[in-house]
Amino acid sequence: MIKLEKNISLSNYTTFRIGGPAKFFIEVKNEEELLEALDYAKKNNLDFFILGGGSNLLVSDKGFDGLVIKMHNSSFLIHNSSLECGAGVPLAKAVRESVNSGLTGLEWAAGIPGTVGGAVRGNAGAFGGNASDVVKKVSVLNTEELGIKNYELSDCNFKYRDSVFKQNKNLIILSAVFKLQKGNKEEGRKKIQEIIKKRISVQPQGMPSAGSFFVNPVVNNPKIIEEFEKETGKKSKESKVPAPWLIEQADLKGRQIGGAKVSEKHANYIVNTGNATAEDVIMLASIIKQQVRDKFGVELKEEVQYLGF
Ligand SMILES: Cc1cc2nc3c(=O)[nH]c(=O)nc-3n(C[C@H](O)[C@H](O)[C@H](O)COP(=O)(O)OP(=O)(O)OC[C@H]3O[C@@H](n4cnc5c(N)ncnc54)[C@H](O)[C@@H]3O)c2cc1C
Repeated sequence: MIKLEKNISLSNYTTFRIGGPAKFFIEVKNEEELLEALDYAKKNNLDFFILGGGSNLLVSDKGFDGLVIKMHNSSFLIHNSSLECGAGVPLAKAVRESVNSGLTGLEWAAGIPGTVGGAVRGNAGAFGGNASDVVKKVSVLNTEELGIKNYELSDCNFKYRDSVFKQNKNLIILSAVFKLQKGNKEEGRKKIQEIIKKRISVQPQGMPSAGSFFVNPVVNNPKIIEEFEKETGKKSKESKVPAPWLIEQADLKGRQIGGAKVSEKHANYIVNTGNATAEDVIMLASIIKQQVRDKFGVELKEEVQYLGF
């Protein structure tokens, strides 16, 4: 029998440390508890929201007038070179344990906060790796049909920071199987250390955020791509230009509204300097979007998910 909590502050459940309360809140440890929670929401005509690690999320200051279901299903199994994780397993644990078991393939994810479920849904990626490179199978609950189905890689429709799960709110990821390869523990650990070092050198430290705020846009104007390549010496991939470069060119590094600030270190990070409200973040994000649009004619789209707006 599940026990719901009431009026739980969501700022404690997000890496941004921003957001009002959830009217109802529950952590579910398995499918049965998840089904019970969904049933409660349905019978009481409540909206529900699936929460992972809250690391890609901006919650409104007034909170969420429904049921937040935090995924805490933490089944974990390594068999040969496959890793099967419950959606609530921290991605960091999947990275660490796979390397400790002599497997390779997940090291790119070192330092990405959040859960396995959140990473699969958003096709998380870094340093040339993406969830879609290693996902073999995803077990999914369809809340409309109340059935559980296995999605093979080809069913997941993974794209850059996108998947079939992101496009369909009724699909809840229960677990995922990653197909890794036999590797060398020491090499894997070294790779992780290098990646963490790189992250520390380019990302703001010690201030809450939700990671990259905008996805890197596809740019149709060849002049902008040319300018980016000339200035940085980097090559644009699939006509994308990094959002942080566009934001920096629009002279927005360090711009602050209330407690929300464009990081001086990484222009695609909005950081909470201590007492930022969701409204501060939204206002700053809209200034960024407007100024990038004015300067380049490019429409930035949020990577961060909004809740309760
Ligand atoms: C410092 C920092 C660095 C980051 N670096 C990176 C990076 O390098 N690369 C990158 O890709 N991301 C990065 N992120 C963003 C974030 O960590 C990832 O997007 C992460 O995968 C989100 O997972 P989560 O469990 O925290 O999801 P949450 O923030 O809890 O949720 C995000 C969305 O996923 C949905 N969701 C969560 N779990 C499930 C589930 N089981 N089933 C269905 N839907 C679900 C939620 O409803 C929500 O819409 C970074 C964030 C921070 C704070």
